[in-house]
Amino acid sequence: MGIVFDIQRCSYHDGPGIRTSVFLKGCNLRCPWCHNPESIDPRPQIELLPALCAACGLCETVCPHGVHRLTGGTHRLLPASCALCGACVDACPQRALQIAGREMPADEVLAVVLRDRAYYEPDGGVTFTGGEPTCQPGFLIELLEKCRQNGVRTAIETNGCIPEKTLSAILPLVDLWLLDLKADDAASLRAWTGGDFALWQQTLDAVEAHGGSVILRLPVIPTFNDTEAHFRFAADLRRRYRCVRSVEILPYHTIGNTKWTGIGRAAPLLSLPSATPEQTTLWNRLLKDAMQGD
Ligand code: SF4
Ligand code: SF4
Repeated sequence: MGIVFDIQRCSYHDGPGIRTSVFLKGCNLRCPWCHNPESIDPRPQIELLPALCAACGLCETVCPHGVHRLTGGTHRLLPASCALCGACVDACPQRALQIAGREMPADEVLAVVLRDRAYYEPDGGVTFTGGEPTCQPGFLIELLEKCRQNGVRTAIETNGCIPEKTLSAILPLVDLWLLDLKADDAASLRAWTGGDFALWQQTLDAVEAHGGSVILRLPVIPTFNDTEAHFRFAADLRRRYRCVRSVEILPYHTIGNTKWTGIGRAAPLLSLPSATPEQTTLWNRLLKDAMQGD
């Protein structure tokens, strides 16, 4: 059993080809630019979709634990007292409430993955993402094994900060690693996200030694890592590691910002505008120049 907060079929964004993306709850990092904050807590939690809420107050009326507070047309959540009874979810006429995350057996997840098996050729398959999928190691290993047994290609989207025991167990079961590069030195990664760069480096080294395949993904966040030095660092990894088959830029966007208030946080941790098309073009050019350098 594991906690899954979403399964997206026919996904084109989480690796090559047509894929099924399975989102596992729980994360070991705290990136201020996170656009899936409902994925961080490993447990199921109440979530408000603010854009759908009509401020009718029904949820406040039915909730036995005082989780919903409507004042002056503003809907706030006090999620710590939520007992996950689901009464407010059922009562909401706007479908503006949901419980993010539910317990699922691996076979139930596999059944969903296998539904689209006919579409996975030639490059697609399943991608386990999150949150950080390695935060549920036993469940992830079980899912990867079942996919292998059923001939489904596997990918994992990871921040790379993976304990050694989990890493060794999943190495032979993952066909493709979508590995985030958030910072290029230990102090920055620690300060920005709480991540351990030594673990990240260990992951890349282990995939290389194992003959695996990596797409390096760079979430580019203005004022954090949008520097020429960062692009040069990524390009250098591409040159030095045979396993790194490509490098991609993921420009910062604000699409997930309303989710922070939706889970009861006062505001997103980062208040920056989305990257403009001009910024994205510039970053891609800097990366390309770095890749072509010596
Ligand atoms: S799930 Fe139950 S306890 Fe939680 S907010 Fe809704 S009504 Fe209240
Ligand atoms: S979440 Fe639903 S029930 Fe609660 S105030 Fe908004 S629309 Fe009404």
